Amino acid sequence: MTDIVRMTATQLVEEMAQGNLTSAEITRAHLDRIAEVDQDIHAYLHVDREGALATAAEADAARNTGADLPPLAGVPVAVKDVMTMRGVPTTAGSRILEGWLPPYDATVVASLRRNLMPILGKTNMDEFAMGSSTEYSAYGPTRNPWDTSRIPGGSGGGSAAALAAFEAPLAIGTDTGGSIRQPAAVTGTVGVKPTYGAVSRYGLIALASSLDQAGPCARSVRDAAMLHQAIAGHDPRDSTSLAAPVPDLVAAVREGDVRGMRIGLVTELGGEGYQPGVEQRFREAVDLLADRGAEIVEVSCPNFRYALGAYYLILPSEASSNLAKFDGMRYGLRVDDSDAGVEQVMAQTRAAGFGDEVKRRIMLGTYALSAGYYDAYYGQAQKVRTLVQRDFAAAFADCHVLISPTCPTTAFPLGEKVDDPLAMYLNDIATIPVNLAGNAALSLPVGLAPEDGLPVGLQIMAPHHEDARLYGVAAVLEGALEDTWGQPLIEKVGG
Ligand code: GLN
Repeated sequence: MTDIVRMTATQLVEEMAQGNLTSAEITRAHLDRIAEVDQDIHAYLHVDREGALATAAEADAARNTGADLPPLAGVPVAVKDVMTMRGVPTTAGSRILEGWLPPYDATVVASLRRNLMPILGKTNMDEFAMGSSTEYSAYGPTRNPWDTSRIPGGSGGGSAAALAAFEAPLAIGTDTGGSIRQPAAVTGTVGVKPTYGAVSRYGLIALASSLDQAGPCARSVRDAAMLHQAIAGHDPRDSTSLAAPVPDLVAAVREGDVRGMRIGLVTELGGEGYQPGVEQRFREAVDLLADRGAEIVEVSCPNFRYALGAYYLILPSEASSNLAKFDGMRYGLRVDDSDAGVEQVMAQTRAAGFGDEVKRRIMLGTYALSAGYYDAYYGQAQKVRTLVQRDFAAAFADCHVLISPTCPTTAFPLGEKVDDPLAMYLNDIATIPVNLAGNAALSLPVGLAPEDGLPVGLQIMAPHHEDARLYGVAAVLEGALEDTWGQPLIEKVGG
């Protein structure tokens, strides 16, 4: 039998159904793996051994009664540390939340519990999900399992690295500007940003509320579909939650077919600034889609070139408002070494509790929202957002899905961009338009770049509510690629 930790969630489900493995065995195997490798990877900020084993026991007991179980019952999962979990440390990668124990579960966490999925722990991330490398975590960076001198992407680098290092079969991420898709791309895993509102934001520590979206991270397209299905659905506690029924995403994987489909290559998401090996693997994947019967067309989305600029006004504006609640009074850290009064305590706490990138964005956002500058910056950015939405609408009038490289380069070395915010921001050039428009997108691995042997991701974008389409196309491409490789790409990690 394959090593337990190398199995996909789909395989684990099968092994449990056949009575070959219990959830307790599977969960223990992952906890052992974490103990063995996480000092080198640092995917986890907190491991909840007891909690995970308790849920595993519950899942095994339920199975023994012969009850009808949820599809992923007993399969362990890791959760990005931006989701609240009752009584379990939740820091969002920040010092300011150190020591805080949330009194409630995020809706996503509650869904995982309802599905009897053992939660292995909380994964590392850039502070408050600001970043593309996980180097802005207050608790030290995560390393890329393909090459531990490289970044695992961000902000959800912990979730992606946990998958690539076989420290979890499934993980939860959040994507505000690319934080699920970019880490997936640079770690050779699959990551999905669902349509805005498809997965509840209740209990997700907010970065930018109009952009934030939780979603699944996995090692295969089918696994991602199963996890997506488990966490999606209407939540009355989130005012922007979609009321529409969740489509059958696993069926979309099974029935995936690109024959007769029009697939649009976005002119603006490629070319200058994209690593040659990324473009090469992308082009080869496009050829495979054409071989399988898709019609490939070029589409132009001219306003995408302004998307990054608009995002870096809208996001800091919303973040400056969302982060105002971290004041040393309500949660976590309080620096209180003076008798100077409440304002002094707030200022000291924020000075000590927030990292440089968070301070930078709070200042940017406060400035963009201030009277006198609001129209010139925030107002203008919102107009650009509308133009990006119109570009998508026009492109989707002509194409079923759009595709691009997920990010311009493979994983870069740790330390390379950490002191250069603008270089860091440019990693999300291809992922941000989708967050501004609110539609759905998926990243899947399409090979290793010839120049550095590191994974390359391809992004598929679909219209709002058409998440199923992503899975159909991704499943066809994944199958075609694995036929050429003879095995899933992830099997090449570390060797
Ligand atoms: N890297 C982007 C940023 O720093 C995306 C963040 C995210 O998706 N959470 O804003």
